[in-house]
Amino acid sequence: MKCMTSKHRKRTLLRAAALGLMLSVLPLSGCAKESIFPHDGVVYSSQHYADGAVYFTWLKDAFFGNWPLACAYLDDPGEAYYACYDPLCEHSDNNCPAISYYAASTLVVKPDGRDDPLVFTFGSHGKFENNGLVSDEANEGSLVVRVYDVMTGEGSILAELYCDTVKNAYCLDGKIYLTADYYSKTAAGVLDLETGEYSEVDEDSPSSVIGIWNGRVYYITGRGKIKSCDLSLSDVREEYDCGDFMPTLNAFVDGGRLYYAVNDRKASDDAPISTMSVCDMYSVDLDDTGAGAKLVATDVCRCKPYDGDLYYTLWDYKDLGKIELGGRVADVFSYDGGTLYRYDAENDESEVCFSDCGTSFYDIFDIADGKVIFYGHQYKNPETCKNTGTANYMCACDIETGEWDVIWHTTVAVDGVWTSWSWY
Ligand SMILES: [Zn+2]
Repeated sequence: MKCMTSKHRKRTLLRAAALGLMLSVLPLSGCAKESIFPHDGVVYSSQHYADGAVYFTWLKDAFFGNWPLACAYLDDPGEAYYACYDPLCEHSDNNCPAISYYAASTLVVKPDGRDDPLVFTFGSHGKFENNGLVSDEANEGSLVVRVYDVMTGEGSILAELYCDTVKNAYCLDGKIYLTADYYSKTAAGVLDLETGEYSEVDEDSPSSVIGIWNGRVYYITGRGKIKSCDLSLSDVREEYDCGDFMPTLNAFVDGGRLYYAVNDRKASDDAPISTMSVCDMYSVDLDDTGAGAKLVATDVCRCKPYDGDLYYTLWDYKDLGKIELGGRVADVFSYDGGTLYRYDAENDESEVCFSDCGTSFYDIFDIADGKVIFYGHQYKNPETCKNTGTANYMCACDIETGEWDVIWHTTVAVDGVWTSWSWY
């Protein structure tokens, strides 16, 4: 992990100086400070990616549980940097504008006209000391929503939520729509970024935000119902009945299409791969829900919507033997044959984007700019992993050509879940 490049730092400093000059000629008045949050009617849903940069939280100090925000650039593969570019900052406590505690989920918001994004983190509150959670703040919420402005290098705490983790976050017009996971429940909610006010949908079963479309927030319930509500979580309508109990609440709304998973099941009982699960994915046209659902594929391993289509991998396990790396022996295997499929919703057809690309898709972070950003598990040429002792990589793969680059190669948090490579 390095400090941010001098090129980046210089660019940012120059920009700050220009802004200071502009402000100095404005008359002094009592105007309220303009909001940094976009109010442009755009739904921002990228969890990690903006303009060639991937943002994620990185474990800096296992004992204290510090996970500062980090970033890696597609045009600078193999390196990662602290998102905070203060050369004197240790990125280890609340003095760091880009600090987070424990593996935090993220949301990257990059409006047009902005050089660098706002990055929201949904992390824990404080430090771990003497085996107990010690809060840095007087008011002890269990989860803290922070924002870091990559453009100015400023960060702040926006709100405290009394849940354990946040996922499926979307930003629209100064609000974040999200799914809050509690010990005993899962709920779709909205956070007002200006006021810190937070509220949840009124449901008697678990609910999870799955997208925003045509000015309405879509969510799935534990009873298999797809519902929508207005942007203040009122005017609830039932949109579609998936007809099944939904323990995983795994669904998406993208480009007027609903995608949902059923029959979630363990892919295998074998030890190194027993945590993988598969499901069957269905698609519904939200303009014609009466036509019902179409089966996209069975045995789907990982999937993500993009431009209304669904990109997915299928369970296709291959045991490729063992390899000795750095004095240790590791299994070499592929979950999915390194093959990515695209379901074309318009024509109700799936096609192979590329096959046997050399790395399994352990988790798909984002799809943007014609690239799949994913956490990969390399099965071809694993001997190249010797220097790092890991075969798990953060990668960017071109959708059209299947060519992929390693962006970074150290174990990272994947949406709040620690993943690692098994060694023997
Ligand atoms: Zn810092």
